Amino acid sequence: MTISLLEIKELLPPDVKLLAVSKGQNESAIRSLLYNGQCDFGESRLQEALPKINKLSDMKSIKWHFVGRLQSNKVRGVVKTFDVIHSVHSLSLCERISRISGEENRSPQIMLQVKFREDTAKVGLSREELLDIWPKFKSLPNINITGLMTIPPINLDSDDRQQLFLECRNLSDSLGLKDCSMGMSRDWREAVHAGATWIRVGTLLFGNRV
Ligand SMILES: *Cc1c(COP(=O)(O)O)cnc(C)c1O
Repeated sequence: MTISLLEIKELLPPDVKLLAVSKGQNESAIRSLLYNGQCDFGESRLQEALPKINKLSDMKSIKWHFVGRLQSNKVRGVVKTFDVIHSVHSLSLCERISRISGEENRSPQIMLQVKFREDTAKVGLSREELLDIWPKFKSLPNINITGLMTIPPINLDSDDRQQLFLECRNLSDSLGLKDCSMGMSRDWREAVHAGATWIRVGTLLFGNRV
C-alpha cells in the first residue's frame, strides 16, 4: 500500500516537513517525486547514495539528508554530499563531523539520535547522556544542531510509540531545539501528533524497496 505525495502532504500540518526516504529506490522514482515538488530526499548508505546523487546533479532544488548509521570512515563523504545528517549518535562522531566540515568548508545541519528505550538493534545517545554532555555538543564549530532524531523499538504499540515521541519533543524543547525527526511509514501519524517537525517516509511513498 502506498499514499501519494499530495495526499500525505495534505495530511501534514504546515510546520511538519516530509523527508522522502529513497534508499532502495532508483533515480526515476526520485525524479517523479521531484517533478511533483518534493525536494528533500533521505538515504542511509553512502555507497548507494553517491551514484544517485551524481545522476541527479542537474536537479538543483534537491536537498540530500543522511539518515543511516554513520561510520566514522564515511564522515568525509557524507559531509561533502549531504546537507542534513539526522543520525549523529555520539559525541566523538559529532566532533569528527565538526572537524571535517571545517576542512571541507561545509556547515551541515545536524540532528542527534536519541534512544528513549533499551534497544540493542539501534545506536543512539540516552537522554541522560545527552543532557550531561550537551554543552560539548553545543560548543562544536562548523555544524548547526537543530534537533533530535529517534526511532522507537520495533515492538512498541501505538500508544507507547506516541509516548516515546512526546518524550523526544519534550527533550528537544528543553534543549531549546526546534526539530524532531521522528515517524516513518508505519508511525508517522503518532509522530506528527506528538510534535514531529520532520517525518521520514520511505515505502509508504515509493512502494517496496528493491
Ligand atoms: C529506511 C528508513 C526510514 C524509512 O522507513 P519506511 O518504513 O520505509 O518509511 C526512515 N528512517 C530511517 C532512519 C530509515 O533507515
